Amino acid sequence: MNEQLFAYRCLQCGELHHPQHFVCRKCGARQFEKVLLEGEGTLVTWTRVYNLPEGYMKPFLCFGIVNFPNGLNVSGQLEVDQPEIGTKLQTTVGVVKEGIGQDYFGFIFKAK
Ligand SMILES: [Zn+2]
Repeated sequence: MNEQLFAYRCLQCGELHHPQHFVCRKCGARQFEKVLLEGEGTLVTWTRVYNLPEGYMKPFLCFGIVNFPNGLNVSGQLEVDQPEIGTKLQTTVGVVKEGIGQDYFGFIFKAK
């Protein structure tokens, strides 16, 4: 599967948005260009979540926030055994929820 996720850069002021906004939160402009989010990021913080909502097939999941070189922070699923803040992680896009009849795409962060 080749899903990709994008940030949206305001054409007027350059502010990056993720997820997509329809009005720039900084200058109010309404035109954006897509910026592909992929590659390497730095783990900013993470948490382990138990008691997952129905639809997850695992006892717990780790979620992290990763900082991209372009300055954007994005959250996603963390697939690292012993996460450490400040480590470089590889960003991929995959199915993050195995719902009934519906899957969701999101970021998955893995050790390099
Ligand atoms: Zn703007």
